[in-house]
Parts: sequence; C-alpha cells; structure tokens
Amino acid sequence: MRKNIVAGNWKMNLTRGSSLGLVDEILEKISKDKNTEIILSPPFLYLYKIAKMCRFNKNVKVAAQNCSKEVKGAFTGEISAEMIASCAADYVIIGHSERREYFLESNDDLAAKVNNTLAENLKVIFCCGESLKQRENEIHFDWIKQQLTQGLFHLDSTKISEIVIAYEPIWAIGTGVTASTEQAQEMHNFIRNIFYEKYGNEVGEKISILYGGSCKPTNAKELFSQKDIDGGLIGGASLNADDFLAIINSF
Ligand code: PEP
Repeated sequence: MRKNIVAGNWKMNLTRGSSLGLVDEILEKISKDKNTEIILSPPFLYLYKIAKMCRFNKNVKVAAQNCSKEVKGAFTGEISAEMIASCAADYVIIGHSERREYFLESNDDLAAKVNNTLAENLKVIFCCGESLKQRENEIHFDWIKQQLTQGLFHLDSTKISEIVIAYEPIWAIGTGVTASTEQAQEMHNFIRNIFYEKYGNEVGEKISILYGGSCKPTNAKELFSQKDIDGGLIGGASLNADDFLAIINSF
C-alpha cells in the first residue's frame, strides 16, 4: 500500500519564534493514531531544531525546501544535501515551480539535486506542474512527462522508490484557484501511468503522488478521495496549525 502524505511548505515565511510555536501547536494537537505521514518544510535556519522537536512522533518528518546542485566547495550562500542530512532532515523538496521560475532551475539542475539528495540517503519530493498557458494550449501532459523524464528517469527502480511526486499546476499555487478534482485526478492518473510504463506496475503503484495548489480544509477531502491522489503539498494553509491539521484529518 502506498503512503498518504501531507507536506507543509512554509516557503520564506515565519520567524524562528513563530516557526517553533507552530511546530509545538501541531505536535500537541496532532492525532497519534493517524497513518498519514506529515512533513514540515521550514526554512533551512530552523531545520535542525525542528527535526529534533519532531523526533518523538514517528509520523512527522522534516524537509528542506531546496538544496544545491553542487556537492560542496566555493558556492557562497548555498546549502548542500550533505549539510541537510547532517541536520537530521528526512526529505528535500526539489523542482518547486518557484525555484524553476525565479531561480531558473533547469531539469538538468534538478536531476543533479536529486542525485545529491539520494546520495545522502534523504528522500525527495519532486515537484512538477504546468502553466495556465500550457494547459490552454493543451501541452500540459507532454510538459509534465518531460519534467519527470528529464528530472528523474535516469534513476533505477530502487532509487525511484525514494521519490514522492507533487503535481502542482502553477496557475493554482497561491492563487486561491484549485484544480478541479477531475483535472487533478486526470493528471495524477497520467503521472502514475508514466511510472507504470517506465518502472512497471509494482513500482508505479507504490509512488505517492501529492496534489499542490490552493489546497485547503474545504477542498482537501474531495481531492484526497481520488484514486491517484495520495495527499497534498500545502503552501499558505500550512502556516496555520488548525488549517493544516484539518487538511491532515481530511483522510
Ligand atoms: C506550494 O507552493 O507548494 C503550494 C501548494 O502553495 P499554496 O498551497 O499556497 O497554493
């Protein structure tokens, strides 16, 4: 059976104090008997502290929001996968559309980041998603296939099992516009089929595919009830403990 996952991506929000307060509140209110894996993705600066705070709850993991495509050396301001692993993190988010768009990260850059991350025994949340224009021009399926092929499909079937996919249509991120349940399920099914084709049914069946893009307590239940939607990558709504917990409790 594949894992249900709800991951919060805090982006460049929250001070140290408000981050730790949010984690305290989540850990206090979280239901202990849930099988859903919860991933918190704070800014790098608080990663180690938050990983330590979460270590007593086996369902709560932490992710870095990015890592360098370089392994180590003279790259001022960069953070390597090795450094992230040494801070007790579990995952790295790679290929978020904001990284692709504002920091011009190419599929080749992302493939290098994936390799660096897996080499440190960290798992990957690999994001893919199309723009509104690409959807209107009906090239969204080809685009997603290309992102997955160029970013991930150099991996063998053991390594690909360490990957979680997040499908995040760019037009739905932070806009309040959610993909309809049908649009999301259609794309998730398409993605799973690509994995079946490339790696076989057993591997494809086990890959968790998360939806991201204005997922909220009001729409999470319907989205998560779809056959190929295994959870969510949550931006804005993960900054409020009650909203985030309501989304987790939508399973
Ligand atoms: C995101 O950026 O990953 C995201 C899904 O953001 P939001 O939930 O705010 O749309």
